[in-house]
Amino acid sequence: MSGQLYLVATPIGNLEDITYRAVRILREADLIACEDTRQTSKLLHHYDIQKPTISYHEHNETERTEELVSRLLAGTTIALVTDAGTPLVSDPGYRLVRAAIECGVPVYALPGPSAALTALAASGLPTDSFHFGGFLPVKPGQRAKVLEALAEEHATLIFYEAPHRILEALEAVESALGPRNVVVARELTKLHEEYLRGTAAEIREQLAARDSIKGEMTLLIGKATAPLPDDTPLEEAVQSLITGGVARMDAIKQVARRRGLSKRVVYDQLLHDR
Ligand code: SAM
Repeated sequence: MSGQLYLVATPIGNLEDITYRAVRILREADLIACEDTRQTSKLLHHYDIQKPTISYHEHNETERTEELVSRLLAGTTIALVTDAGTPLVSDPGYRLVRAAIECGVPVYALPGPSAALTALAASGLPTDSFHFGGFLPVKPGQRAKVLEALAEEHATLIFYEAPHRILEALEAVESALGPRNVVVARELTKLHEEYLRGTAAEIREQLAARDSIKGEMTLLIGKATAPLPDDTPLEEAVQSLITGGVARMDAIKQVARRRGLSKRVVYDQLLHDR
């Protein structure tokens, strides 16, 4: 009989944020597959768990998947953990889960912490519908494309972001989406936990004024407000965005995108109407 694969969510900061079941499964598993064995050893030490560990990360996922599936098929029960939060959520594990399912190995996910849902819950942004986008692309052009494609999404947008890129990301949000309610959830469940709320430009200004920008961050962006009807004159549509705080060129860009027109056409039309 095959073993079982358990996906075990671990704390995103505060070591108390782990379920009784997660601790029991880590104790009972034959092997713990870790994104970083040194990182997980702190958690295992805290809960006095002594178990063999093996690394499973983005650089050895392919070979390790084969090895771990063979062990599962031979009857080994494996618990998969990542450095923090829920495995597979912007973290390794997808290949292993696919391979295990294909080989008929039972896969169980143990619910627990994830920065995205933790941040969403206390953000104060609508929770009825949300879009989790993982990490935003690093390249400015690709990042703008991703954000622009989500401009009409009637959902709270959630992204993970690195502290050294947060200012750029906030600038990109302001330029692609205009002045929305934005929240940066920083260092969740840790000593310096904080929620920064405002428009992207306001939060950017607040962060830029600090001596250093550190810590783990989750970026949340409020829903698009209902756009004006499509027959609203272009001048009025652009003006309404400018009144809402969007820069003139960004307002032209947004109206052009919504109407399926080029920026030049909108711009020329505005000049013509004067
Ligand atoms: N699998 C994890 C989860 O379920 O939350 C996410 C792993 S991803 C590699 C790490 C990113 O999650 C960080 O760069 C940050 O954007 C976000 N994150 C993790 N811990 C956080 C925390 N305590 N506070 C805010 N964001 C956090």
